[in-house]
Amino acid sequence: MDTPLDTQAYDGVRHTAPRALATEAVHAGRDDLARQGLHAPPIDLSTTYPSYDSRGEAARIDAFATTGAEPDGPPVYGRLGNPTVARFETALARLEGTEASVAFASGMAALSAVLLVRASMGLRHVVAVRPLYGCSDHLLTAGLLGSEVTWTDPAGIAEALRPDTGLVMVESPANPTLAELDLRAVAHACGSVPLLADNTFATPVLQRPAEHGARLVLHSATKYLGGHGDVMAGVVACDEEFAGRLRQVRFATGGVLHPLAGYLLLRGLSTLPVRVRAASANAAELVRRLAADPRVARVHYPRIGGAMIAFEVHGDPHEVIAGVRLITPAVSLGSVDTLIQHPASISHRIVDADDRRGAGVSDRLLRMSVGLEDVEDLWSDLDGALQRSVSGAGNCATSHNQPAAAARP
Ligand SMILES: *Cc1c(COP(=O)(O)O)cnc(C)c1O
Repeated sequence: MDTPLDTQAYDGVRHTAPRALATEAVHAGRDDLARQGLHAPPIDLSTTYPSYDSRGEAARIDAFATTGAEPDGPPVYGRLGNPTVARFETALARLEGTEASVAFASGMAALSAVLLVRASMGLRHVVAVRPLYGCSDHLLTAGLLGSEVTWTDPAGIAEALRPDTGLVMVESPANPTLAELDLRAVAHACGSVPLLADNTFATPVLQRPAEHGARLVLHSATKYLGGHGDVMAGVVACDEEFAGRLRQVRFATGGVLHPLAGYLLLRGLSTLPVRVRAASANAAELVRRLAADPRVARVHYPRIGGAMIAFEVHGDPHEVIAGVRLITPAVSLGSVDTLIQHPASISHRIVDADDRRGAGVSDRLLRMSVGLEDVEDLWSDLDGALQRSVSGAGNCATSHNQPAAAARP
């Protein structure tokens, strides 16, 4: 066998110098498998790890309590870490270009852990730019974890910083308007305050915020990373020092990811580049057609591309939701199939209506997560639903590509 030059130690296994994203997507977190005679990663469901050496175990617990570093050897107990979840964490860190990543039970659990890390250091003030995902906005606005938020636009960040500011939080492209901001300029404005960029929409395939100076990269892994609508998870990619603190908070507060979810996420990552590119091509084509459509008032699509689109209709957005047949009317995003939802009613309902509208989330805005279906089938479904939005529910049955029996009551 042809053995390339080993240049770095990684995950206990030596391998070659930097690999392309598509290669990392299928190999990262799996580098040790072939030598173990395995192909698919094992799923370790243990909640506890036996040891006859309690002195050694005490030393591992002490080390974890001091730095939050992953225990050398078995994890002691499932809340300290899990080998299957660790494979996903290794892989996501490689894709985001960070030293480490720490996985949680959901995106909101991941954000909560970040806020708790900063609050435990007495840094309770957060500066944030709207729009954010509705529940992130709510968590900050309601101060549920004792934080205090100052909302600003990107140009106002530097001025909004205080001595007790522990975090600056942004999303780009943002949920649901797909507004983009200049991450490098924002990171610069943050000075020494950590910038958290929610990269759920772009994924590391389209954008790696750590390269632009974000210290923390957050994902709702429920979305594109899992990619099939069947796993709920969150993850923060960051430097090892911050990762240690996040592991300590995860240990103390318990928002761990289940190993089966870790397995599904690792599997999801292997097709992430292919899925994101194919869905983005569909999205770009739908954007082209929507932008030329007289029933559509405005289309939002970020410069970096991606599979998320948003558009405002002249007619009733609720009729579009009621009118789709192939496209699934549901919140969430990033699955293989296309989902559509009305942010003012669903994903951003929890945000105060004035704040929501102020952030550009119009009551006529629809958000669509474009999947991997054939684009002509998607367009034909969307076309029928748009027709219903302008002509009312009664007139759409004939224009639709599904039998009347499939129509809703
Ligand atoms: C869904 C979402 C979240 C929250 O993640 P959960 O996994 O649902 O907890 C955070 N940020 C963005 C951008 C999201 O779309």
